Amino acid sequence: MTTKFRRIGVLTSGGDSPGMNATIRAVTRAALENGVEVMGIYEGYKGLMEGNMKLFSERDVSNILNHGGTILYSARSPEFKTEEGMARAVAVCEKNQIDGIVAIGGDGTFRGATDLTLRGIPCIGLPGTIDNDITATDYSIGYDTAMNTVIEMVDRLRDTCESHARCDVVEVMGRNAGYIALNTGVAVGASIIVVDEIAFDEDAAIERVIEAKNNGKRNFIVIVAEGCEGFAEPFAKRFEQKTGIETKFARLAHVVRGGSPTLRDRVLAAQMGKEAVDLLLDGKSNLVVCIHEDKICSMDIGYALILDRMYKGKLKDGDLDAFSSEQAAEMREFCRVKAEQFRDLYNTAYLISK
Ligand code: ADP
Repeated sequence: MTTKFRRIGVLTSGGDSPGMNATIRAVTRAALENGVEVMGIYEGYKGLMEGNMKLFSERDVSNILNHGGTILYSARSPEFKTEEGMARAVAVCEKNQIDGIVAIGGDGTFRGATDLTLRGIPCIGLPGTIDNDITATDYSIGYDTAMNTVIEMVDRLRDTCESHARCDVVEVMGRNAGYIALNTGVAVGASIIVVDEIAFDEDAAIERVIEAKNNGKRNFIVIVAEGCEGFAEPFAKRFEQKTGIETKFARLAHVVRGGSPTLRDRVLAAQMGKEAVDLLLDGKSNLVVCIHEDKICSMDIGYALILDRMYKGKLKDGDLDAFSSEQAAEMREFCRVKAEQFRDLYNTAYLISK
């Protein structure tokens, strides 16, 4: 451990997710065990700029790991993105002897972490979002809980669909990513899954539903990803007209962002929180902690953000300039495997949907 670290800050930023509290607890306790003080920073980067913070003891993070939301609260701060905002944040860190920060959130949060690192405050990012839309990691903290909430709710809808021979078209969160929709669609035995990543053949899907109906099937669940903006509700109407099955529409929005984290999210929070502290105290910075093939690892934030754009087909001119041709090839392979796994699961879901 370098002697540099007297005190680190921890903050949650961007959209909240179940498991953020378990992460705050893990970061706090791991740092204190290493003789490093912990400043809990309220309301993300906004609170950092404003000096809204409190020195945490072990007891300040007692009895929080099973609670949803974040005891540090979250906020979005456009002001932080400005030079003036950054300078304020750095000055607050210096005044409060904060030598490094663990920032829990999504892409935007990591960009902020890079900006702070460049200005002399080493940061480590932890992926906290239900959407799982951070390409670098197989799982983000909160994703598993959100999916379990979706399946609990849709299982209930299915009960009543079966009684009344109905369909429920359910739109689920996930921002532009279809991970929640695809995985919960498989888990609830959806007849149809619609995600933005894969072209949807409506006629073929409807035909399969009619075949299943004629074969005695009574309950129908359609899961649509939030990323397919404006699709779900009108589709419910078309579905009813084309199949003759009475169809309801439901949107599971922020209800799946709350609640007690699952075992998987709690374990991930513990592992990632400890890793973030280890990395900081090892003198590392500008990294996002990830889990890949069941191993906790980390990735340079700059690399992770470009990888993310590549996966989402949003690369801009010059994005790859800072990387070697080997790194670019490695990124392409990473994205190829990830997209293939996604498509394989989609195909499996389709195969067993009737
Ligand atoms: P998420 O972290 O979930 O992606 P946001 O995109 O809203 O959520 O980002 C959270 C916060 O991170 C923003 O309110 C802002 O303070 C900071 N942030 C976002 N983008 C940047 C950026 N490009 N540079 C610096 N800070 C940023």
